[in-house]
Amino acid sequence: MVQAKKIAVIGAGLGGAATARLLQCAGFDVDVYEQANEFSRIGAGIHVGPNIMKIFREMGLEKELTALGAKPNQWISRDGANADILAAADLQGYGATYITVHRGDMHTLQFESLDPKKLHYGKRLEHVEQNAEHVILSFSDGTTATADIVIGADGINSKIRDILLGEEAPTYSGWVAHRALIKGENLKKLQAEHDLDDCVKWWHEDRHMMAYYTTSEKDEYYYVTGVPHPPLDTQGQSFLPSSHEEMFKAFEGCHPRIQAMIEASEDITIWPLNSRNPLPIWSSGRLVIVGDACHPMKPHMAQGAGMAIEDGAMLTRCLLKTGLDDYKTAFKLYEHNRKERATRVQTVSNANTFLKQPEDPAWVYGYDLYSEEIYPLNEPKNIEGVNA
Ligand SMILES: Cc1cc2nc3c(=O)[nH]c(=O)nc-3n(C[C@H](O)[C@H](O)[C@H](O)COP(=O)(O)OP(=O)(O)OC[C@H]3O[C@@H](n4cnc5c(N)ncnc54)[C@H](O)[C@@H]3O)c2cc1C
Repeated sequence: MVQAKKIAVIGAGLGGAATARLLQCAGFDVDVYEQANEFSRIGAGIHVGPNIMKIFREMGLEKELTALGAKPNQWISRDGANADILAAADLQGYGATYITVHRGDMHTLQFESLDPKKLHYGKRLEHVEQNAEHVILSFSDGTTATADIVIGADGINSKIRDILLGEEAPTYSGWVAHRALIKGENLKKLQAEHDLDDCVKWWHEDRHMMAYYTTSEKDEYYYVTGVPHPPLDTQGQSFLPSSHEEMFKAFEGCHPRIQAMIEASEDITIWPLNSRNPLPIWSSGRLVIVGDACHPMKPHMAQGAGMAIEDGAMLTRCLLKTGLDDYKTAFKLYEHNRKERATRVQTVSNANTFLKQPEDPAWVYGYDLYSEEIYPLNEPKNIEGVNA
């Protein structure tokens, strides 16, 4: 018998760390089990929309996160051949700041905000046993832990998802992303010779390149691409090294600013983009999933981590509403109040249409999870997922 009501979060990625922080702030007893021995600052940026910044406000981390990132006023979409502006969306004015930031810096802020005694590294979950009383977790280091409920925030290859629905590898989307940073003298030269947008997506035929600053000082610029590609054998890794040659080939014929960004970039990596169809269930018994474990997507709308963080926030609200004893109702309420919005973002992100043409992004950025009603199970969720 467990002595106190305990929650286990599997995975301390962007979604798991946010979920655990929100639950700890709400007073729950939460342990986090992460397979990695430590986290490193991998060269990649991330957008944090106002919908997510409002959740960092709830975590008590809004000020620190805002201070870390660049604050673009607009998302600009440009024609990859001639730099014509296809669309320009205002990013400020949605009740919180829109930032672009190094994801390692954001992640560090997140996991350092957790109770250090409750964050356990080097714990790769291997086996789960549920019974009427609790869940027993077994890790690859031979240790075990017990919890009343388990939140799978363990990413696209989630062990918890496999337990809910059976083992099934994610589907390769047919696309890769290249990622690289531009820093130091290379960035100074690029800035001197080119008019860099704070936040831009270049669209060229069947491919694109998104670029933005990742620090408040604007001393680091980042690009991430979406390029059709045959399947890649990454030998179990998330990414492989890429090269300037590969990038020049992929963006042959594109605008000189794109060529200059490629030239100036360092340590280019290539990431296969995998996805899954929307899942039929999000929980079973004492287990529930959030984030990429639940609705992985191509990253073209820059909201994948956002949806993981929104999941954690809604799940916390539902557990607060029902109490931990009635976790079954909380899990159902969570799915009922999240599925439609997460699936909509997943669908639009996978289709890669967001802001290619002028459109109102308020349904994404204007969303305030904390002023949303928690719809009871017998009432349908409103269609837009936006406050009425
Ligand atoms: C190229 C690219 C660009 C992106 N850009 C953006 C962006 O700009 N904005 C945005 O919002 N999203 C973006 N995303 C998406 C975003 O990275 C993911 O949606 C987000 O990381 C999902 O968070 P998560 O916590 O669910 O999963 P992850 O971040 O994948 O975290 C899962 C964690 O679980 C751990 N884990 C896995 N298995 C186990 C196990 N068995 N036991 C213990 N621990 C385990 C892992 O080590 C990891 O730490 C991008 C993704 C890619 C690939």
